[in-house]
Amino acid sequence: MSRAFNFSAGPAALPESVLLQAQSEMLEWGKARASVMEISHRGKDFEALAAEAEKDLRDLLDVPSNYKVLFLQGGATLHFAQLAMNFARPDQTADYIVTGAWSEKAVKEAKPLTQVRIAASDEAGKFTAIPPRASWDLDPNAAYVHIVANETIHGVEFHTVPDVGAVPLISDLSSTILSQPIDVSRFGMIYAGAQKNIGPSGLVVVIVREDLLERCPKSIPKILNYAEHAANGSMLNTPPTFSWYLAGLVFKWAKAQGGLKALGEINRQKQELLYGYIDGSGFYRNPVEISARSWMNVPFTLPSESLDSVFLKESEAAGLLALKGHRAVGGMRASIYNALPLQGVQALVDFMRDFASRNG
Ligand code: PMP
Repeated sequence: MSRAFNFSAGPAALPESVLLQAQSEMLEWGKARASVMEISHRGKDFEALAAEAEKDLRDLLDVPSNYKVLFLQGGATLHFAQLAMNFARPDQTADYIVTGAWSEKAVKEAKPLTQVRIAASDEAGKFTAIPPRASWDLDPNAAYVHIVANETIHGVEFHTVPDVGAVPLISDLSSTILSQPIDVSRFGMIYAGAQKNIGPSGLVVVIVREDLLERCPKSIPKILNYAEHAANGSMLNTPPTFSWYLAGLVFKWAKAQGGLKALGEINRQKQELLYGYIDGSGFYRNPVEISARSWMNVPFTLPSESLDSVFLKESEAAGLLALKGHRAVGGMRASIYNALPLQGVQALVDFMRDFASRNG
């Protein structure tokens, strides 16, 4: 047995060279004479690692200097609640654009904390499109507008940053961060769980415009307060040091690939190959409107559900892992994050073509 192409939605494939480096440094990291997991986060060595990871991430995303970069915990799920707690008062409205299961979850977590308004939703369309910007019913006095840049389950992605005027735009980029360049200055805050394009789970990257931190209420516990985290260099408490270290290696890897422009070009080719094959196959089907199709998560169905289990069994035997779709949409899902190479998508398409010819 050997490493296979891994299409998991997350925790997801990591670059092999990164895993090999971590393996080689497992017992002794740098001059520490100990593993990076075994040293204090308050020591000089780890502080240098943390600063370098932040710098590399800033370089990759071209983060403007008036934004703080935080390395936090709790998964993106904690931040669904935390961002509402920090940036909206209980009596204030906050606008949500609902494009799939994760935006619905964000709404649910914010509801106990602020006056959530659904400014637009594609629930009626079963989350197969982004509601046109002209149809959004935004409140100019809202605390923020929240979007999920890429819906990991439904495979729906914003390919342009919507204009929401002066109200800060907050976006969950968990499953699309680092997949192509973005203009950070268009957002009040972006946040992303690590376990797709950044590193192991347990780490959340938050990039927040400094002026928004003035809103963080003193009345909430420090550990939930973004301004406190920023003032303490993301080290209010013990951070997930190994995840931070590994994220740092992934950032170096991403730079070595040529940064987000180069990665974006490869990702463009990957999704073109896969959607192109699906659309022309007459066998597989992806229901998402072409302009809103995700570059990272490609759900697709077979002509009959009765073929699903044999597709999964045979694809796994062919070295293509974790293609089972989410139960909310059924069928299959291929997650093709940065660490999944073009050859992996080609291998998937070859398998799909062969499977279709045998089962059509
Ligand atoms: N948002 C998106 C877009 C996700 O894909 C996920 C997890 N797959 C989450 C939020 C929740 O992340 P976590 O489980 O790390 O809290």
